[in-house]
Amino acid sequence: MEKTFLMLKPDAVQRRMIGKLVQRFEEKGFELIGAKLMRMTMAQAEAHYAEHTDKPFYGELLEFITSGPVFAMVWQGEGVVAMSRLMIGKTNPLEAAPGTIRGDFATDKGNNIIHGSDSPESAEREVANAFHPEELLIFDPFLPKLEALHV
Ligand code: UDP
Repeated sequence: MEKTFLMLKPDAVQRRMIGKLVQRFEEKGFELIGAKLMRMTMAQAEAHYAEHTDKPFYGELLEFITSGPVFAMVWQGEGVVAMSRLMIGKTNPLEAAPGTIRGDFATDKGNNIIHGSDSPESAEREVANAFHPEELLIFDPFLPKLEALHV
């Protein structure tokens, strides 16, 4: 099943937006299979943003993403990568459509609230960078007793 790595950035955590943003993906119908509040190490941040090494904003980006706690999540579902990118909106919040997360809640290109993987391959790499395999769980909501199973 397709998975994506979503990360609420330090600005979202500081603005007390975790619940509101998780709710959007729950209501859409995707399945949450892993989540934690964590502080990215510099090594994790460098690995996560490796494709941006030569960009002028790279230093600032690393500083921002390691500046405080992030809320890291793994979501599962058919088409979850592309749909969550749509729900997140364009990178520059001033160009992101109203109704998208960045369109509704941000104005700054750097402090843009949330990260979402751009492909299933990126998702696999990004999940492995932030989670141990045993931190990913699936459960069957129709079982009378909630049983968590490892993915
Ligand atoms: N970013 C920035 N300035 C820019 C472009 C990007 O600070 O001009 C930051 C921003 O936080 C963005 C991240 O770098 O989310 C990664 O950029 P990417 O192009 O991968 O955008 P995303 O996939 O997050 O929309």
